[in-house]
Amino acid sequence: VPAGTPLIRVDKARKTFGGLVAVNDVSFEVKAGQIVGLIGPNGAGKSTTFDLITGMNHLTAGQILFNGKPLSGLSPREIARLGVARTFQHPKILPDMSVLENVALGAHLRGYSGVVKSVLHLDRPEEASLLAEAKRQIERVGLGPYMHRPAGDLALGQVRILEIARALALDPVVLLLDEPAAGLRHGEKQELAVLLRKLREEGMSILLVEHDMSFVMGLVDHLVVLDFGTRIAEGKPQEVRENPAVIAAYLGG
Ligand code: ADP
Ligand code: MG
Repeated sequence: VPAGTPLIRVDKARKTFGGLVAVNDVSFEVKAGQIVGLIGPNGAGKSTTFDLITGMNHLTAGQILFNGKPLSGLSPREIARLGVARTFQHPKILPDMSVLENVALGAHLRGYSGVVKSVLHLDRPEEASLLAEAKRQIERVGLGPYMHRPAGDLALGQVRILEIARALALDPVVLLLDEPAAGLRHGEKQELAVLLRKLREEGMSILLVEHDMSFVMGLVDHLVVLDFGTRIAEGKPQEVRENPAVIAAYLGG
C-alpha cells in the first residue's frame, strides 16, 4: 500500500451505552506509513473506539472503513484477518507458557490459521509455520533472548512488547496499540518508542492510544484528541499541544 493511502477511516462514529455517549460522532483517518496518536483523559472513549474498529463492539451510528470498505457486520476474527490487529490495555498473557507459545497461541486464536481447532491438534505443517512466524516476530521486536522463558518472568515493558509481537504474527496492515506505555519506566518507554519507529520504517501503520502526551509528542505523525467522547482537536502534535481546548481537557482531567 503506497504511503499516505487512507487505511482506516472512522466516519462520524458514535457509541452510546444507555444514556452515556462514549464516542460522539468521531472522525479521523489512519494513513499508510503513519503513526497516529489517539489521546485523551481517562474515560474519553479511546478503548471504545478501538472496540468499534476491531468489531468487539458495534457502532450506534456512523461507519468505519478499512481500505475503503465498511467493516460493519464483520466479526473480530474477520476484521483481524483483513489486517487489523490490536493489543489490549490490560495485557492478556499466559504467565506459565513461554514467550514463543504465547505469541504462537495468541496468533492462532485470533485467526492466523483460519480454522477453529486447538493448537495441540494442528497438523504438523500448520504448527511449524505458526511457530516459524511467531519466532520471526519475537526476533523482530527484540525478544529473541526470552523466546523460551515463561512470559510471567518478563518485566512489564517486555510484556507489552510481547503483545505487539503477538499482534504482528497476524501479519497486519494496521496495528492498534491500547496504552502500550502505561506504567512503564522511562527507559522502557524509550525502548518502546524505538521499536515503534522501527516498525514504521518497515512500513507498518499504527494507531496508538496513549494517556501520556509527552510520550506521543516526538513519535506520532498526527494526533487526535478525545474528551468525553468528542474529538476536540487534531493535527500535528506540536500544534495540538498548544490548543487551549486540549490544555483545558488535560488540566481538568
Ligand atoms: P478510555 O479508553 O478513553 O479511558 P473508554 O473507551 O474505556 O475510555 O470509556 C469511555 C466511556 O464509556 C467511559 O465513561 C466508560 O465508563 C464507558 N464505557 C466503556 N465501556 C462500557 C460498557 N461496556 N458499558 C458501559 N459503559 C462503558
Ligand atoms: Mg482505555
